[in-house]
This record gives sequence, C-alpha cells and structure tokens, in this order.
Amino acid sequence: MPFNCLTPTIVFQEVPGEISLCFSITGCKLACRGCHSTELWNENNGQDLNKDTFCRYLDQYAGLLSCIVFFGGEWQAPELIEKLKIARAQGLKTCLYSGQEHIDISISQHLTYLKTGKWTPKRGGLDNPATNQVFFDLTTGKKLNHLFVKSASNNSAGLTLLTKTPLKTKILQQKGNLHAAA
Ligand code: SF4
Repeated sequence: MPFNCLTPTIVFQEVPGEISLCFSITGCKLACRGCHSTELWNENNGQDLNKDTFCRYLDQYAGLLSCIVFFGGEWQAPELIEKLKIARAQGLKTCLYSGQEHIDISISQHLTYLKTGKWTPKRGGLDNPATNQVFFDLTTGKKLNHLFVKSASNNSAGLTLLTKTPLKTKILQQKGNLHAAA
C-alpha cells in the first residue's frame, strides 16, 4: 500500500500558535458522511512520501516551521512513525489529525498534538462547541478545543501570531505554499 500525500501546505489554524507544514495522506477508509476531502479516499492519489522526499520538504522550510501536521496516515503506522521521529529529531512539534477515536501508543508517543473523531455533519468541527472531535495537547493531556471556537479574543490572538512573524510569512509566500485554512 502506498504512503502518498497531496502537495504539502503551510497552515496556521490547524495547530493554534504554530506554523505548520501539513501533509495530507491519501488512503482514508473511514468514509465519513459529508466528508469535504474525498480526494483523500483513494490511496493512489498524490505522490509517494518516502523518507527522502519528507526530509527534502523539511530542508526546504528549515527555520520557518514550528510543527509538522499529518492529516491521516495512521493506517500505515511504520511509515508515519518514521516521519514523526525525523520531525521530532529536528526540534519540530508534531500533530496528527485522525478521524478515529483512539490512536495506538506506538504512534501517539511521537506526537505533541492529536485530533480525534470522525466528521459528523450535525456536530461540526473543532470550532463548534457541540463537536464530537477533540484536540489534545499530549504533553499536558489537556483538551484545547476552546482555542478553535471563534471569539474576539481568539481572533486577535491569531492576528498577533501573524503580525509577530511578518518575515516568516513573507518568505513562505515567496515559496508559494502558504495556506490559511478555514
Ligand atoms: S477522516 Fe477526514 S478524510 Fe477521512 S472520511 Fe472522515 S472527513 Fe474524510
């Protein structure tokens, strides 16, 4: 089974307070009703994310990132763990967005952050207080869902992050890979 990903993008909102490079791994089998990312279902979509290509991406953005995010990939634990270890060894934080409720400790021990829970249209995502999804800081064990719920204070915090990093933002824009997720 391939370990393929779509073109990685820089994201600011998936992990609060971090500048993250996000790898969307294809081959998701959860088939959530109302999934907005059905391009991730076919494991043959995207390009092979092997050790060399992953390291090249980290080199390309060296000094500009604080975190690596994987959207999925837990179904190929050895491949995912290999990349998490590389990122950690370079001093980066790590995050997994999973649609599952539980992640094996063989993976979670290499994570700083973890999002769990399927997409359920009636309950919404992390910005909805009624969501079934949970975002954990695994270093403290605390849930951080409150950071995703839109409020005046959270919005100004996001603006503060951006205005504090104008040079990094400019460089990332020049690299043509900047994406602020909704
Ligand atoms: S886990 Fe994400 S990508 Fe997979 S089916 Fe659910 S919403 Fe879609």
